[in-house]
Amino acid sequence: MNQPQLGRLEDFVAGVSRLLDRTDDEAEILREASGLLGRLIAVDDWLPDDYAQPDPLRYRQYLLYRDPKARFSVVSFVWGPGQATPVHDHTVWGLVGVLRGAELSQGYRVEGGALRPLGPVHRLSAGEVEAVSPTVGDIHRVTNALADRVSISIHLYGADIGAVRRSTYDEAGTKKAFVSGYADAPLLELSRVGVGA
Ligand code: FE
Repeated sequence: MNQPQLGRLEDFVAGVSRLLDRTDDEAEILREASGLLGRLIAVDDWLPDDYAQPDPLRYRQYLLYRDPKARFSVVSFVWGPGQATPVHDHTVWGLVGVLRGAELSQGYRVEGGALRPLGPVHRLSAGEVEAVSPTVGDIHRVTNALADRVSISIHLYGADIGAVRRSTYDEAGTKKAFVSGYADAPLLELSRVGVGA
């Protein structure tokens, strides 16, 4: 497979790995990993096309990297025009950085048997990063902000997110368990990554 410019992704993975070797403080992780993710998404020349393919029916999530100890995972989310997630949570810390296009994110909280918007919808444009976690706000819905184009964001989570048992929410705030899995794609072969380090 043609793997252009994977050095950027390798540097990112190595940086996150070193960060998690050093600390388990969520605030510190979110702050420092935001900087690393910001650097990764600042230049859109490295994501292989195989991990940038939209599906006509629903958004796709491709696993780019899974830490050998499952401390973190890196995923590309590919949004077809107008596609959206259900309202969902993560249960672990996560960072979303937009690589291409733009996303809309609406936070929610469950209150008095209803799902209530938490703050305004905010738009995340290419190059911008936002955090989710049970501490900073974990329930949201994300939509491709563009009605006529694909958008792509790169996500970093503090677990093997495709295997995490988490929830979607209906209008009444009732939870339904889900495990997202990943889109079918071969694993990238990254070099220079401190596997097991
Ligand atoms: Fe999310």
